[in-house]
Amino acid sequence: MIVLAFRHPLRTALTISASLAQIGEFSFILAGLGFSLGLLPQEGRDLILAVAILSILLNPLFFAALDRLAPWLEQHGMMSPAEISAEPAHTDLLTTNLQGHMVLVGFGRVGSRVGEELEREHLSFLVIEDRTELVERIRGRGIEAIQGNAAAPEVLAAANLAEARALLIAIPDGYEAGQIVEQGRATNPGIEIIARAHSDEEVAHLQRYGADLVIMGENEIAHRMVERALGRKAAASQPDREPVPD
Ligand code: AMP
Repeated sequence: MIVLAFRHPLRTALTISASLAQIGEFSFILAGLGFSLGLLPQEGRDLILAVAILSILLNPLFFAALDRLAPWLEQHGMMSPAEISAEPAHTDLLTTNLQGHMVLVGFGRVGSRVGEELEREHLSFLVIEDRTELVERIRGRGIEAIQGNAAAPEVLAAANLAEARALLIAIPDGYEAGQIVEQGRATNPGIEIIARAHSDEEVAHLQRYGADLVIMGENEIAHRMVERALGRKAAASQPDREPVPD
């Protein structure tokens, strides 16, 4: 959200305002609790509930108004076209020469470990990472890296996904990961897509978009604990498919 706010300050402010205009469902619980504890009179509770229902009903209209407002703001010089477009275009990207490679998205806590293993196995791969300073460090280690948001089509295109063997998505945001999975699957129907998730909902979401294997850290930890407690050797918990052959 912070990065987004820097990129599109006015649009972000408007979106946040529209989101905050709605009194959430949580207010029902709070109002009910206040009333049952004798902290809130019945009129107060009813008033909160009425305003909450009204704001929930009106909220879609706020968002519709926001979409109509953006072109007007642009016309009146209050918002540049760059701010209005969803993401800045990466026009200076060079397409990789790699083929039969792996594309690793994100080089943080998970991705950097994946990268180390791929290096140890002498596998051909490149990294897509949106943090500039991290990209410089990755390149400094002799690893090919594309700087940008992997959810942007031109960034994925530069990674030559069409001729890649696997797409490893090691970013924490399930929504963005879903966009990457969807594009990856559309570009290369046969590519192996492995993604990271933090909840059962994210796992289902990513599988729906076409991921072959979605790994949830919490599942892996629980599995390893039980394996260890039962004196078994460590093994992956969801071997859905055979690993990609060399
Ligand atoms: P971590 O949560 O520590 O595993 O870090 C995730 C890494 O992925 C960070 O270095 C982020 O900059 C990077 N990242 C997150 N989302 C994207 C994205 N859409 N495209 C490219 N890199 C990303």
